[in-house]
This record gives sequence, structure tokens and C-alpha cells, in this order.
Amino acid sequence: MTSADVPAASRTAFIGLGNMGSRMARRLAEAGYQVRGWDLDAVARAALKEHGGAEAESAADAVTGTDITILMLPDSGVVEQVLTDAAVLAALARGAVVVDMSSSEPERTRSMERALAGRGVRMVDAPVSGGVQRAESGQLAIMAGGDRADLGRVEPVLAVLGHVYHAGPIGAGHAVKALNNLMSATHLLVTSEAILAGQRFGLDTEVMLAIFNASSGRSGSTENKWPNFIVPEAYNSGFGLGLMLKDMRIATRLAEQMGSPAALGACAEQLWSEAAGELPAGADHTEIASWLRNRVTESD
Ligand code: NAD
Repeated sequence: MTSADVPAASRTAFIGLGNMGSRMARRLAEAGYQVRGWDLDAVARAALKEHGGAEAESAADAVTGTDITILMLPDSGVVEQVLTDAAVLAALARGAVVVDMSSSEPERTRSMERALAGRGVRMVDAPVSGGVQRAESGQLAIMAGGDRADLGRVEPVLAVLGHVYHAGPIGAGHAVKALNNLMSATHLLVTSEAILAGQRFGLDTEVMLAIFNASSGRSGSTENKWPNFIVPEAYNSGFGLGLMLKDMRIATRLAEQMGSPAALGACAEQLWSEAAGELPAGADHTEIASWLRNRVTESD
């Protein structure tokens, strides 16, 4: 999309310029959107300015005069903190749409949507999968929840960031995102257990990965996480272990609330929770493999 294709109503606020938000906001600015970015971190704000966006002075300043506000924040707690701020509420225009692209909690998203609706502000959820690389290339999987008319209004913006799947009503995107990450985290853990056992048996890691990737054990863990971040011992995927654990907890709680079985998910969550307690606060989620390796070694 060139700036000539960008509709007049293209002023977009972007709140949360971390690993994901920085890349997404930059893509929108490069596509011709007038992006006003806000993050608590001044370095993150300055980086957006360097890439064609505008640096707001506060969240309320970012939102002022925009039709669309995108949030890419750590969790529901932070999303609520931003959206219940009196200055932000005063700055949000009637008819504006808030798009929560963070991986938040579906029930809290539904409550927030109701609270905003009372003020004439619309809300949709649109969390993503694909990590920082696909955020950069505009190839995210976007799981949208909300009213079709509201989604229609924000779809041109979301299309710059990736492919949009309409998951259902408000909160549906956040539900499916958490469930996806419960699957992803469980795959990564069991893949790591299998590879560690294979290594102890004398198998070569590259050979195992080539075989798994041509076989039914294949997953994002064997195709991407192990070869790109764990084998080279880089552990720099850009997705924090604490954020993954947050998503697992959302998913297992959802299963529990639905009376649906989740014994394996709960077991995986317990192990990830132990890893989170033992690894440094900023650990990358791929460090689950090194944590497991050390755990196995220590228990010899
Ligand atoms: P991050 O920690 O890198 O970024 C979060 C940003 O929010 C930080 O820059 C922080 O300063 C800012 N922030 C925190 N509180 C704030 C506030 N009150 N006001 C303004 N800014 C505030 O996290 P991330 O990896 O970019 O993830 C963001 C969301 O996307 C999370 O919900 C995460 O689970 C999800 N997600 C991440 C990835 C990934 O690969 N990193 C992939 C898919 C989804």
C-alpha cells in the first residue's frame, strides 16, 4: 500500500512499542499511516520517530484526534490501566475503535468492551501469532474478535500487519490466541524432552530435526524454534518466557471455566511456571530448553 491508497481517516494511535509493537507501528508508518506512538519507555518512542511515526507525550496525547487506537501491551492488567485512565477516556472520540492486539484475557476484554461501549467507543480484539520476524514482514496471523462492522473499519489497517481471521464475537480472538499458545508451549516442552533423550541416546540433533520435520512430530518448535534459537544457543526469539506462561494460564483457566479437560496443559503450565521461577525475569521463552537440559543434568 502506498500513502496515496491510505484513507483520509488514517490517523492511528499505537500504544506499546516493545518487541512486537515497535515493528508493527513501523510497518504502519511505512505504509503511509500517520502513527502516533506511546510507550512508557522513551527509547521505544524515539525509535518510532526515527521510522516515520510521531512521538506522543502521553497515552491520551496519542489517542487525541485518532479514529483507531491499537494496543500492543503485555497483558489485560496493563490494557485496563491504559483504557481506564481518565485522560485517555476523555481523549477517546465517540465512534473511535480500540483494537487490543495484545494477548489478553477474553473475559476481561469483554468487560472492557462493555465499559467503552457505554461511552460510545467500540472495541475489537486482534491478537497475533508469528513473532517479531513476521511482525516485521507484515505476515502475522491476526485472530480478530468483535462486531463485523467494527472489524470492517479496522481491517485495512490490520491487513498491513498480516492476514486477518475472524474468530467470532468480542473476546474470541483472545481465547483462540491463548489456546494456540498453550499448544505451542506444550509442543516446545515435549519436543525439548524428546531431543534431550535422543541426544543422550547418541543421536545427532540436526539429524533428529531433519527426521521430525519430515515426519508427524513436526511443529513450529522443530521447524523454527529449535533450529533458529535453541541449537545456536541464541535464545533471542523476542518472546519472553513470562508472556508465554501468562498465555498458558489464560488457556488453562478458560478450559477449567468451560469444564473442559486440560490435564496435559496444566502439567505443562506447572513446568513452565517452575522454569519462570528459576530463570532470570527477562528470559526468552526458548530458554525452556536450556532450563530443561540443566534440570535433567542436575537430577542425574
Ligand atoms: P514487550 O514486553 O516487548 O513490550 C511491551 C511494551 O509495553 C514495552 O515496551 C513496555 O514499555 C510497554 N508498556 C508497559 N506498560 C505500559 C503502559 N502502561 N503504557 C504504555 N506502554 C507500556 O512485549 P511484546 O513481546 O511486544 O508483546 C506484547 C504483547 O504481544 C503481549 O501480550 C505478548 O504476549 C504478545 N505477543 C508477543 C509475541 C512475541 O513474539 N514477542 C508474539 C505474539 C504475541
